[in-house]
Amino acid sequence: PIIAKEGVERTYIMVKPDGVQRGLIGEIISRFERKGFALKGLKLFQCPTDLAEEHYVELKEKPFFPKLVKYIVSGPVVCMAWEGPGVVASARKLIGSTNPLTAEPGTIRGDLAIAVGRNVVHGSDSPDNGEREIALWFKEGELVEWEQNNAPWLL
Ligand code: ADP
Ligand code: MG
Repeated sequence: PIIAKEGVERTYIMVKPDGVQRGLIGEIISRFERKGFALKGLKLFQCPTDLAEEHYVELKEKPFFPKLVKYIVSGPVVCMAWEGPGVVASARKLIGSTNPLTAEPGTIRGDLAIAVGRNVVHGSDSPDNGEREIALWFKEGELVEWEQNNAPWLL
């Protein structure tokens, strides 16, 4: 089901169209995979305009909003749901700050991007937004409930 179990933290991570076009899908997924979080949903998807607008509804009044929506629908994205303790804040650390020029080296944006309008990846900014975004981008049945057999080595 789309609703997370009590006490389970999830985040919505997305490789944006520039990341897909530049061949960075594997590189970006591997950062979260190596960190040890659990992948619960994954798909390549062409986002329609109304979904992009809903996803970024909190930024509706920003001057860059129309360009942002155009960017997100400009080509396929890779949608992911990742789960684990503290995954929301940890994923934001792995991603780095919004502007890639000030993002630390070692972060995804710090290593792979130079422009705020082409910053290759999205990560939810709170557990509530993680749930909101997972429900927006995934349909019932698209998330997989499974236990990773390497869990004892990670925890
Ligand atoms: P983040 O993706 O780090 O959570 P925000 O939620 O503030 O950042 O903004 C969402 C996205 O909007 C950013 O990732 C970026 O693609 C775009 N964006 C933010 N600020 C700007 C800006 N000043 N100019 C152009 N695009 C921007
Ligand atoms: Mg944000």
